[in-house]
Amino acid sequence: MSKILLVAVIVVAVLLLMRGLRRRDPPADASPAAEAMVCCAHCDLHLPRAESITAGGRHFCCEQHRRDAGYRD
Ligand SMILES: [Zn+2]
Repeated sequence: MSKILLVAVIVVAVLLLMRGLRRRDPPADASPAAEAMVCCAHCDLHLPRAESITAGGRHFCCEQHRRDAGYRD
């Protein structure tokens, strides 16, 4: 019986802890650490700038779309 109570107390403590952590999180759009998003110049897919391929000042989601836009290797 005491084991069940212990598990219940742990579950409640974890739930309260998670709720507390969630409240402290800043809104995504207000976070300065939010990664800049760019738009593929070929298919308009939005992706993080770090994952994009840049050519001629434009961003692409993949090598194929960079080539399709006329940028050669
Ligand atoms: Zn694309």
